[in-house]
This record gives sequence, C-alpha cells and structure tokens, in this order.
Amino acid sequence: MNQITLADFHLTMQVMDNIDAGVVILDKNYTVLAWNTFMQAYSGISSERIMGQNLFDTVKDLPEEWLKNKIESTFKLRMRSFTSWEDRPSIFNFSNFSPVSGGSELMYQNMTLTPLKSLNGDMSHICLTVTDVSDIAKNKTHLRESNKQLTHLSMTDRLTQLFNRGHWEGCLAEEFERCRQTQIPSTLVMLDIDHFKRVNDTYGHIAGDGVIRIVSSILRRTKRQSDIAGRYGGEEFGIILPSTAAEMGLYFTERLRQRVEQASVSVDVRSINVTISLGICEWYPGLRSYDEWLEQADQALYQSKQSGRNQTTLYEQIVNLAKDTA
Ligand code: GH3
Ligand code: MG
Ligand code: MG
Repeated sequence: MNQITLADFHLTMQVMDNIDAGVVILDKNYTVLAWNTFMQAYSGISSERIMGQNLFDTVKDLPEEWLKNKIESTFKLRMRSFTSWEDRPSIFNFSNFSPVSGGSELMYQNMTLTPLKSLNGDMSHICLTVTDVSDIAKNKTHLRESNKQLTHLSMTDRLTQLFNRGHWEGCLAEEFERCRQTQIPSTLVMLDIDHFKRVNDTYGHIAGDGVIRIVSSILRRTKRQSDIAGRYGGEEFGIILPSTAAEMGLYFTERLRQRVEQASVSVDVRSINVTISLGICEWYPGLRSYDEWLEQADQALYQSKQSGRNQTTLYEQIVNLAKDTA
C-alpha cells in the first residue's frame, strides 16, 4: 500500500515539475510545502531553500498584504478563486526573455488559488497556480492601444489636431440637446480666416497650411479646457463654449481675434499676418435644431465679413439690424 502511494507521489511530482505553470502549496501559516520547477526557474530560489520556510520571509518582493487577503478569503469561502493580470499585472516579480524586444520583460501573471482538503477533510492548505499570460496581455494591451489611436484618428483633423468636422458636429448636436434639457445656454462661435485665398496665392499652399496651423494653436491656447473646438472647413473653425452666455463669449472672441492679429507666421524671410472674422450665437429656447444654431452663428460671421472683417458679430445684432431696416 505504502509503495503504491510513493509511486503515485512520484508520478504526481513529475507532472507538477513539468507543468508550464508555477505551483506553490502553502499551509495556513504560509509555510511552503511545494515549489515546482517553474517557480525555481523564474525566482532563482531552489525548492531546498524555500521548503518549510515562510513564503513571505523568503520571497521578499511579494505584495504581501494583498496576497494574504486573497489567501484568507479563499480559505474562508472554501472555494477556488482567481486573480487576473488586468487587476494586477504580476504577483511574483518574474521576468522572461522576449523574442520581440530581444530582452527580458516583466511576466504578466494570472493566478488560481485552490483550497486543498487534507485527509481528515479540513481545508488546511492552499495551492497557488501561477500562469504566464505575457503574450495575451501584450496582445490585448497592443489592441487597446491601437483602438485608442484609431478612435483618436477618426475624430481628429490631421493638419490642426483639433476635432474634425464630423466629430465636432456630433459634439454640437449633444450640446444642443443639453441646452434644451437644462435650459442653460451655451454659446457657439464660428470663425473664418480673412482673405485666405490671397495668402495661398501670394505665399503658396504650404505657407497657407502653416497659417491654418498657427491660428489653430492660438485657438487651442486661448480657449478653456472645456470649450470644444473643431475645424469646420478649410480655414473655418467652430468653437462650442458650454454653459457660457454670449456676453462672456465676446471676451473670448476678442482675445482670440487680437492674438491672431498680433501673431505672424514666418515663411522664408517674410512674415505673414492674418486676421479672423467671427460670429457668435447664444442658444435660446426658440432654436429648433443644432443646424439652425450653426446657421445663425454663420450669418453673424457673414455679417462680420460684410462689415469689414477682423471683428465679431453677435447674432442678436443682426436680428436687431433687420428690425431697424424693416
Ligand atoms: P474671406 O475673407 O471672405 O473669408 O476670404 P477668403 O479668401 O478667405 O475666402 P474663403 O474663406 O472662401 O476661402 C477659403 C480658401 O481657403 C479657399 C481654399 O483654397 C483655401 N483652403 C481651404 N482649405 C485649405 C487648406 O487646407 N490649406 C490651404 N493652404 N488652403 C486651404
Ligand atoms: Mg476665409
Ligand atoms: Mg472660408
């Protein structure tokens, strides 16, 4: 009988040592009773050194409090539990060789905690199974990163790094709904660079692109974090000022207008100066759609062009102007 048990044990040990996972058996005092080849290879700690020792005394860099909590609750629940690399990338500070980077890298790990029953039926021991999930983790991280980049690309204008028209219009539609629900007005600003065709004609298209980029970066630096700026067309931009009245919006447009007027873009030895015209429209309950909101801000912008450019017009002013002439 004893011989059979010993033979069984011998077989079990071989399986344990050849399995592609770390196997550790502990008692309730965290004394190590098994430490397989995988654990020896990656930790550099031989089983002779660790067997019969306290795990945390021998392996110094473990997340002790966290792991003890996991072990305690597994004993308490008398059920298998699991930890994922997504919550904690690694438990044991192992590294392995990566053929991709050509160097050693942190080993991402999943771990299963299995309470073990002794012969008398007590849950007296626990088995930790540590698996190397570096490949899965790296693929998933890479995929997540790529998705993030794709999302960014799909909503960003390449030249200016502002929102592109599609995404910005989506934001405007959302803002319109928010205004309708809360009845708190936001302000819409449309702006267009003055006489831009001349810039292209005089200095060339590349220099024109440079001007668009400079105007965008002034816009980015002048707006608040919460303001939503997008490139609406060639050299036309839209800015949503959430929960902001037109009067406050005028401070912003005036500052922006002046900064653009004062900036110059160097092309070779020449410098280009441009101005912008702006139109402002504050949301009001009578607006039927975000298109109408856009149209009215655009009318205000058109008025600024008509009145000589390099200025801002409030949509209200056009309405009043129309009343006066009627
Ligand atoms: P206005 O003061 O009335 O706005 O005059 P404008 O010359 O600026 O007229 P408009 O806004 O209609 O002209 C826009 C010009 O911008 C036409 C187009 O050739 C040029 N444009 C549009 N997109 C780009 C771009 O990405 N790069 C460059 N360099 N030029 C562009
Ligand atoms: Mg223009
Ligand atoms: Mg234009």
